[in-house]
Amino acid sequence: MPMTTSFKTRLFPDLEKIAAHFGTPFHIYDETGIRQTGKTLIEAFCGLDRFREYFAVKALPNPAILAIMRDMGFGFDCSSMAELLLSRKVGGRGDDLMFTSNNTSTAEFQMAAANGGSILNLDDISLIAKVPQMPELICFRYNPGARRTGNSIIGNPVEAKYGVSHDQLADAYRQAAARGARRFGLHTMLASNELKYEYMVQTTAMLLDRAAQIGRELDIRFDFINIGGGLGIAYRPEDEPLAIGKMGAEITSLFTAFKTVNGYAPDLYLESGRYMTGPHGVLVTRAINRKDTYRTYIGVDACMSALMRPGMYGAYHHISVPGKEDLPVKGLKDVVGSLCENNDKFAVQRSLPPIDAGDLLVIHDTGAHGHAMGFNYNGKLRPKELLLRADGRVELIRREETLDDYFATLQFNADVLDMNASPGKTYRKAS
Ligand SMILES: *Cc1c(COP(=O)(O)O)cnc(C)c1O
Repeated sequence: MPMTTSFKTRLFPDLEKIAAHFGTPFHIYDETGIRQTGKTLIEAFCGLDRFREYFAVKALPNPAILAIMRDMGFGFDCSSMAELLLSRKVGGRGDDLMFTSNNTSTAEFQMAAANGGSILNLDDISLIAKVPQMPELICFRYNPGARRTGNSIIGNPVEAKYGVSHDQLADAYRQAAARGARRFGLHTMLASNELKYEYMVQTTAMLLDRAAQIGRELDIRFDFINIGGGLGIAYRPEDEPLAIGKMGAEITSLFTAFKTVNGYAPDLYLESGRYMTGPHGVLVTRAINRKDTYRTYIGVDACMSALMRPGMYGAYHHISVPGKEDLPVKGLKDVVGSLCENNDKFAVQRSLPPIDAGDLLVIHDTGAHGHAMGFNYNGKLRPKELLLRADGRVELIRREETLDDYFATLQFNADVLDMNASPGKTYRKAS
């Protein structure tokens, strides 16, 4: 089921007031829901010696949200300098930060090592020599290649740009140890919006297996395994939610078995983005136009700059029209933004109640990879973000972009490199 009933019950009665005060469109996030999901996650893995969620910052990179994660004891999975900085802004230091970059630059390595550092999760064996200072603790991202999980549905990792290949993995740890690493982690990320918990169990089994093998081969122990993110949420009303309890129980059994054989167990890390915040955010937008041509179009005041997923992936986001939910649905409608791209549609041929100009529409499950993926194509600006606090207050946690923001990077007085002015330093055509 999309958007929780609890969030709906707390949000919908005040929605017009919130919209009148802040103006539409906006994403609004639910602190209560985020904390409940965090608790669910912790409870699912309470049988392990140590479990930690590293929230995938890219899903919802707002300090107010990150502060809630930190308050729950979570760390942060970062893959860019901006994400490292954001996480440090809310107090993340050292082991609180997992830096899972790829195609990493020297500047990124330097930032990862600055200010108390972070856990380096290396994406390739060639990067070992490029780490300016090998930290004591090092992690590698494992790409298992073709079907090593015994499951064909996990996609085809052979085509993914990420990770150290199966045959390189042991050597990667050997080389890192030779450069001074003493503690080790193992990471993979193989799923995306996966609702079948069994795949995460299989991924765990695969990583524990590799940790045991490489551990024996090199006589090392693993501090942790990180099974990545990719836990799915129910975007469609008919979707069965991920069975997190079963997932926790089966993964716990795998750890118990590992401990029996190897005499120790690593910590378990998870780096969920979508699962943590996806259902706990909605995009609120107002209908401004209706157009009846070959189809009926409801034009709203938000567009793809606020939410790319429908246009980019054809993703389904449930839509409610508060106050009209009990009215009979009449006809099929497309809900559209104003961008000059025909895929700027929040819904295509959707059964919805009658919608009049001025009605508020609530687009569900925008709490992850929603605002964060927004863009400025066609000069469209990103909307504001609000946070519905557990005590009922509503906070503006990011303002909307303005035309001044859009113009801020333009150089109306161009910075010129004049080849004719310093001919000695530049390539000159042979005459
Ligand atoms: C995007 C990403 C995640 C989070 O994915 P979700 O589907 O939001 O859980 C976690 N880890 C890495 C390395 C990622 O790139």
